[in-house]
Amino acid sequence: MKVAIIGVGSVGAAVATAIKSTGLVHEMVLFDRDGVRARAAAADLGHAAVFSFDVKITAASNYREIKGSEIVVIAAGANQKPGQTRTDLLAANANVIADIIPRVMANVDPKKVKIIVVTNPLDVMVMLARDLSGLPTERVIGTGTMLDSARLRTILARQLDVSPMSINAYVLGEHGDSSVVNWESATVGAIPLNDFCRTMKLSLPQTTRKTIEHRVHNAAYEIIQGRGATWDGIAAAVNDLLRCIINDEKRILTVSTCNPKKNLAMSLPTIVGENGVVRVLMPKLSAAESEALRASGRTIYRNYKSL
Ligand code: NAD
Repeated sequence: MKVAIIGVGSVGAAVATAIKSTGLVHEMVLFDRDGVRARAAAADLGHAAVFSFDVKITAASNYREIKGSEIVVIAAGANQKPGQTRTDLLAANANVIADIIPRVMANVDPKKVKIIVVTNPLDVMVMLARDLSGLPTERVIGTGTMLDSARLRTILARQLDVSPMSINAYVLGEHGDSSVVNWESATVGAIPLNDFCRTMKLSLPQTTRKTIEHRVHNAAYEIIQGRGATWDGIAAAVNDLLRCIINDEKRILTVSTCNPKKNLAMSLPTIVGENGVVRVLMPKLSAAESEALRASGRTIYRNYKSL
């Protein structure tokens, strides 16, 4: 399996490191418009072959070198600076996607390739990548709220004193400020969250839930304030998505893909396998969550239309 990573900044480099550590791919090609940066990243990571898996890692100086890639990860573009929202990146990163996608498509097999979009604002970039690539919606997949859901699960896990892996809880909608925490369908193991709290004599009142939502929504802002960018969490999410595709695992992940009927990309629980999206699912929502999800969709669509 050959994978190409376009954009080898903080996120792209961390993604490459994460993918390499799994041994799931035999070849990785790194492309960045800053060729010096891509070559340095490829050399540094390449030297690590001695200590783990021998993945062939090269820096591409030309898009032709991505030929044969079955998965292309797009992690190029401007990132948020302290105080900026993801939407502030819209115009700049739309240009980046418009630059990259046609060049990618000229050098990959359109019948096979899956594009994984990481660039923000994520959902609009997924829609653009779909428009420009002409690929079926199943094979243009954004990491969506995978990271937001991971943040929610981790925070909840500490609150409930169970492993985050035993918590099934989703953040839905935009990977951005309008994302929606779906309390209604949250379970611990197979036990509905409220029942679990009752059994364990734990209380999770509205005020605590609002605080948790605030922490999920603000996690990226706090990390960016502290270390300039976020990369570890998203790299693990991309790696997890890649693993799910390569191994045809058919796990349910909150990725962002276009709903062709609504011409809108947003995150919903989605079965993902070797051909990308297998099926998008609609979880149980409270009336308030349902309204918030519609509003989130309207925000994404407005941003898309503003381009
Ligand atoms: P960065 O500035 O460290 O790296 C971006 C890289 O993209 C640079 O190396 C730059 O040279 C390259 N680049 C820019 N335009 C290019 C082009 N047209 N062709 C090829 N390469 C190009 O930024 P970063 O922190 O790595 O973030 C990258 C993107 O990922 C940002 O949009 C950021 O907001 C996003 N991000 C998304 C998530 C998520 O959950 N989806 C999480 C973190 C970051």
